[in-house]
Formats: sequence, C-alpha cells, structure tokens
Amino acid sequence: MSNCLFCKIRDGLIPSKIVYRDDVCLAFEDINPQAPTHVLFVPLKHIATVNDVTMEDRETVGHLYTAAAKVAKERGHSEKGYRLVMNCNEDAGQTVFHIHLHLVAGRPMGWPPG
Ligand code: 5GP
Ligand code: ZN
Repeated sequence: MSNCLFCKIRDGLIPSKIVYRDDVCLAFEDINPQAPTHVLFVPLKHIATVNDVTMEDRETVGHLYTAAAKVAKERGHSEKGYRLVMNCNEDAGQTVFHIHLHLVAGRPMGWPPG
C-alpha cells in the first residue's frame, strides 16, 4: 500500500524507534505513548483492518501476540501485566489502517476502556 503510514515505516521511508523486527512483523515505539511502555506491533503484510484478516493470516496475527509478549517480558512487565489492543474502525478509534497490536504497560489501567 503506497500511501500507508505503517508500510512507509516498515520500508524505512518514515523514521521510527524500532523495538523488534523479524520476518513476519515489526515493532516500534508509539509516537504518542499512553503509558511508560507503548509499542506497536505491525505485520509486514499490509492488512487494513481486523475485518480484512483471512484464514491465511492466522499465523501472522498470532505472531504479533507472541512478539508482544516477548517484548513485554524483556521490559519486565510479564508479572504485573500489560494490555494488548487492536482497534477496528471508527467506534474503536482506529486511525491508521494497517493493523497493529498496541502493547501498553507500566501503569495500572482501568476497565472498561472509554
Ligand atoms: P490506532 O488509533 O489506529 O489504534 O493507533 C494508531 C497509533 O499510531 C496511535 O497510538 C498513534 O499515536 C500512532 N502513530 C500515529 N502516527 C505515528 C507515527 O508517525 N509514528 C509512530 N511511531 N506512531 C504513530
Ligand atoms: Zn500498510
């Protein structure tokens, strides 16, 4: 997707603070962090929303969770906990249409979300 912000970050056309990278996903610091740890995990494959995830993408989406858990562990969040969120479309507040898993950690969080 030529006009996608996260594809541009993936391709190095827009700078970001890369946290983790492998052959399936890329993780970088959120530009507007909502907690001491706020990292975005994006598949290298462009997928616009969760509505567009196919059966073929199951391993890719699962991979985002294992990568996020690894980074959470490295940063010492495993025991106290953390939140993993993937927003879909307008009501959930999705603003970048390339799926991404938010890893938010380092402070207590309320539930339900606003
Ligand atoms: P969404 O609202 O779509 O679930 O999350 C999009 C996230 O991307 C937001 O938390 C926002 O702060 C982050 N974001 C938007 N533009 C940029 C950018 O250029 N660089 C980085 N690192 N994060 C961004
Ligand atoms: Zn994209």
